[in-house]
Amino acid sequence: MNITRREFSRLVVLSAGVQLLPRISALAEDRTIGYCIVGLGRISMQHFMPALKMSKKARVTALVSGHRDKAERMAAEYGVPSSSIYNYENYDAIAKNPNIDAVYIALPNSMHAEYTIRGAKAGKHVLCEKPMATTVEEARAMVLASETANRKLMIAYRCQYEPVHLRAVQLIREGKLGTIQSIESAFGFPIGPNEWRLDQKLSGGGPLVDVGIYCLNASRYLTGEEPAELKGFSSVVDRDGRFAQVEETLSWTMKFPGGALASCTCTYGSAMRGYFRVRGSSGTITVDPAFNYDNPRLVAQFEGGGTEELAPAEPDPAQFLREADHFADCILLNQQSKTPGEEGLRDVSLIAQIYRSCERRNS
Ligand code: NAD
Repeated sequence: MNITRREFSRLVVLSAGVQLLPRISALAEDRTIGYCIVGLGRISMQHFMPALKMSKKARVTALVSGHRDKAERMAAEYGVPSSSIYNYENYDAIAKNPNIDAVYIALPNSMHAEYTIRGAKAGKHVLCEKPMATTVEEARAMVLASETANRKLMIAYRCQYEPVHLRAVQLIREGKLGTIQSIESAFGFPIGPNEWRLDQKLSGGGPLVDVGIYCLNASRYLTGEEPAELKGFSSVVDRDGRFAQVEETLSWTMKFPGGALASCTCTYGSAMRGYFRVRGSSGTITVDPAFNYDNPRLVAQFEGGGTEELAPAEPDPAQFLREADHFADCILLNQQSKTPGEEGLRDVSLIAQIYRSCERRNS
């Protein structure tokens, strides 16, 4: 084979690159990502931080909290030095801390935008809890801030990394259900009084933004489509003062371009175990429970009699470990996350449309 000098040089560079690849991966494996935990509440202290204890790719290196005592206790447990404990005022000083690669935002929803943008401006990658933001404008500003700072932004959609959900998507994409006709999904819990979730300014909405978002996001990744039309209804049944600012129950229907209809319900008024059911022309998949922190279970029934069950023993915090490790990999290997800011923005935009639809009906 005759090759020119230019082609030869290119081949040398390429083969050197191929030899370098395992070395780069090895380097990535050697290094761990330092997470700064922003907000020491239930999700961070009971789920995300315990997951990092199990991670080989990431660890807790800093904390941001309004409660110094609590932060000192958690710092002692996670081996975080006192000098790496911040509060909401001096948060921007994380810029000077080389042990922080990424921040994990686990604050009330209306604070996600500010702390994501300040995190990106401080030069840190951001893993932000769902819902990404309380308005479309905020969500857009978050995407822009991470782009401007050349930092990554991932939204913590843990179910998109979970094997049962991934299997459901795979069965649908392989055509095992035929054409998708409908999706049913629901999620809810009875909320107590005095929760920031009932304060519109902090939450940006009721069960829709908190738990309904799981049904919304699942409908999108199950169909692989964006809804073309939607209609919603919201209601308050319990007139006990809890729902002065946000809805108690909300149901909505979405029509996808392929014709599939998704009917979703979320509530703060009753214990509604999160599930979804997808019905196609040649089969049905039920994932129940679907959105719990542990042990999701899939049952698929196919026309002609075949069935499939998948219920891996997945104790909490396995889902958070997968999510934290995925983002660590994205940072180490400079890859795009599977659930970037744009994914959160789509849900925030659909949530705004669902609320507008409910308002039209309620007014
Ligand atoms: P939480 O109330 O337990 O914790 C919130 C934290 O924010 C606390 O540490 C609190 O001190 C701090 N905070 C700062 N300013 C505050 C203010 N003005 N009012 C109230 N708290 C304030 O809440 P949580 O359940 O941990 O939820 C935090 C975020 O995580 C929310 O965005 C929620 O949607 C999300 N979340 C995600 C999942 C999931 O599975 N991915 C599950 C639960 C919650």
